[in-house]
Amino acid sequence: MFFKTIDFSKYSSMKVGQSTEVLMIEKEDELPTDRYLVGGANNLLVSPTPPPLMMLSKDFATITQENNILTIGAAMPTGRIVSYAKKHDISGFEFCSKLPGTLGGMLAMNAGVKEYEIFNILHSIKIDGKWILSDNIEHGYRFANLNGIATHARFEIKNGFSQTLLDHLLNLRSNQPHNPSAGSAFKNPEGDYAGRLIELVGLKGYRKGDMQWSDVHANFLVNVGKGTFEDAKYLIDLAKEKILTECNVTLKEEIKLL
Ligand SMILES: Cc1cc2nc3c(=O)[nH]c(=O)nc-3n(C[C@H](O)[C@H](O)[C@H](O)COP(=O)(O)OP(=O)(O)OC[C@H]3O[C@@H](n4cnc5c(N)ncnc54)[C@H](O)[C@@H]3O)c2cc1C
Repeated sequence: MFFKTIDFSKYSSMKVGQSTEVLMIEKEDELPTDRYLVGGANNLLVSPTPPPLMMLSKDFATITQENNILTIGAAMPTGRIVSYAKKHDISGFEFCSKLPGTLGGMLAMNAGVKEYEIFNILHSIKIDGKWILSDNIEHGYRFANLNGIATHARFEIKNGFSQTLLDHLLNLRSNQPHNPSAGSAFKNPEGDYAGRLIELVGLKGYRKGDMQWSDVHANFLVNVGKGTFEDAKYLIDLAKEKILTECNVTLKEEIKLL
């Protein structure tokens, strides 16, 4: 293992944060238990005082195929997974395009688009050195209880990459805000949409400093310049409070605050 300085104002998708020493884990290392694991930082909001951090090094950015099983390392970026699936005519990974991050982040978040979620196609995950079948891992909408560090995952190979599905999903994304963000800030409450509620309480387009509830898609917290953690946190708390008071709905963050 070794330390690397990561500037989260550049590395994270929200472009918020500062330079921090991050412990990089290599394949022969024992996995530390006292540090927070960062993937591609596409779902994170980093405070000025984050906990000690670690990341999986490129040793974990691997894809291997044996018989009908695909084994992917948790540091593998989603874009490269989709390219691999396309090249080898494998179905199931189309939804990962335009879903920025690493496999590890997708597993921990049960990331997905519409009805397509990573757990739907998952066979098993190697967590803290042990393979666990996906059926034995508690998971649901944008959450999975991994209870440890995922280093690899296995998928049963089914042939037939669908360019039509990929194009359709990319089309759905075409109306997303272009400013830096971490995707949806809140999970959708059952039977409703967080974006609709944010708009209902008058916060769509509302700005504090350089952070803003997007005027394109209200549930995207966007950085329109040099946004800070404090401004982002202010807007998150404001939305939660107004939506609780005015709509009697408790919103839960989808993004992780460090
Ligand atoms: C523009 C944009 C659009 C987005 N659209 C969507 C969308 O449609 N659907 C969706 O689901 N998400 C979406 N997201 C959010 C993001 O793409 C996903 O949550 C993604 O899976 C995050 O991956 P990451 O590697 O960046 O994880 P990070 O943000 O680095 O981490 C997220 C969580 O995963 C944990 N984690 C990371 N790696 C591991 C590991 N190896 N083992 C255990 N835990 C781990 C971290 O500790 C953290 O709790 C969007 C983000 C952006 C910026």
